[in-house]
Amino acid sequence: MNTNKLSDRASSAEQHILSRIDSRIASFFSSCVHCGMCAEACHFYKETGDPKYTPIYKLEPMRKIWKHHHTFWGKLFGTLGWSTLPDEQMLEDWQELVYDSCTLCSRCSLVCPVGNDIAYMVRQQREGFSAAGFAPEGLKGASERSIELGSPMGVTATTLLATIKHQEKECGIPIPVDQQGSDYLVLLSSLEIVGFPEYIGAIARIFKQADISWTISTKGFEATNSGIQIGNSEIAREIVERVVNAAESLGVKAVISPECGHAYTSIRWDAPNLLGRELPFKVIHILELLHELQSQGKLKTVGTFDTPLTYHDPCSIARKGGVIKEPRDLLNQVSSDFREMTPTGEMNWCCGGGGGVSAIDEAEELRFKAFHRKSEQVNKLGVKVLVTACANCRNTIEEGLENYEMDVEVVGLTELIAGQLESAG
Ligand code: SF4
Ligand code: SF4
Repeated sequence: MNTNKLSDRASSAEQHILSRIDSRIASFFSSCVHCGMCAEACHFYKETGDPKYTPIYKLEPMRKIWKHHHTFWGKLFGTLGWSTLPDEQMLEDWQELVYDSCTLCSRCSLVCPVGNDIAYMVRQQREGFSAAGFAPEGLKGASERSIELGSPMGVTATTLLATIKHQEKECGIPIPVDQQGSDYLVLLSSLEIVGFPEYIGAIARIFKQADISWTISTKGFEATNSGIQIGNSEIAREIVERVVNAAESLGVKAVISPECGHAYTSIRWDAPNLLGRELPFKVIHILELLHELQSQGKLKTVGTFDTPLTYHDPCSIARKGGVIKEPRDLLNQVSSDFREMTPTGEMNWCCGGGGGVSAIDEAEELRFKAFHRKSEQVNKLGVKVLVTACANCRNTIEEGLENYEMDVEVVGLTELIAGQLESAG
């Protein structure tokens, strides 16, 4: 029991976490029946067997603050000077549990029998940790670059324009930039611009065939939201505001979220909450748009990809976003041997790199351990190609496969489709 006065950092964390304990979180703590089912759903616990990775245990600092301020016994102990509030040492010890070992994948939230949204609670707890400085350097740096340079990887509008020029040469199609009155604004993640720029050429080819009016904005192109990952709503708001301002000034009807998991939930659901207003445009994931084009007969492909392949569901797109049928319909159009992982769809296992984990250097060893689950899923199918729809998953999976010495190629679904277009041949 902690009877000492809290340090300034611990007090700051306490106040910030307390301010995030809303009625939902208070009721979640009251209703936990300690069944342990959330542990069985978490890849970090399953692959290490270490009880400290039990999802609800990651919330122990927040639970202590809730108990101290919101329960009879907590208030009584506090009055008697027997505070159970987390001290600086506990917060330092928990930083790994709050960041390195949680991808905010929501698998635990889905299985909890009393409906506790643990991923939501971790996200809120991160607000207090980051405000008091208990956050990984990798995420701090990414957030600073997002504010100062416009992207977590330091990608500027100049880098973007150079990449666009290169892609125009590759695909032989002009790529519209800052074009007023376009129907769609295409967002990108900096990881795509730097690591998988062929995505830009792929959408240019698909949109040309489908006669879509679209543009990229030099003022608001970055879809990655480091503010959500580190747990800083101010930064998160500023990042979504750039995109919303760009979309409004261009007068687009819809914003297309790229092949990035958390970007989709950030712009589609977090943005209206962060800005406190409805968005005057529709937000759609690129897979949803491709599926619409497919339904309208505007996605004309030839032949099928015959190599056996599987699909990894990005957590934010499938489990949180419900985009599960769309990639399968699209895959079945262009592939003759699509094999499902087990489990799949809303219960698919996370790649282990979401929620900012891939940006935390010191989390690498744990991330590779957690990836063992994904490697087993892929191994069982005997495929040589894995398709996904998130640049961060793609990067995490490529590194994981390398670590487990597996010879499997990772491909983005949009590119796979673009490669089979009628006009591509
Ligand atoms: S959200 Fe995912 S990574 Fe985080 S505790 Fe739950 S299952 Fe584990
Ligand atoms: S699954 Fe829900 S009720 Fe069970 S231990 Fe985890 S949080 Fe508590």
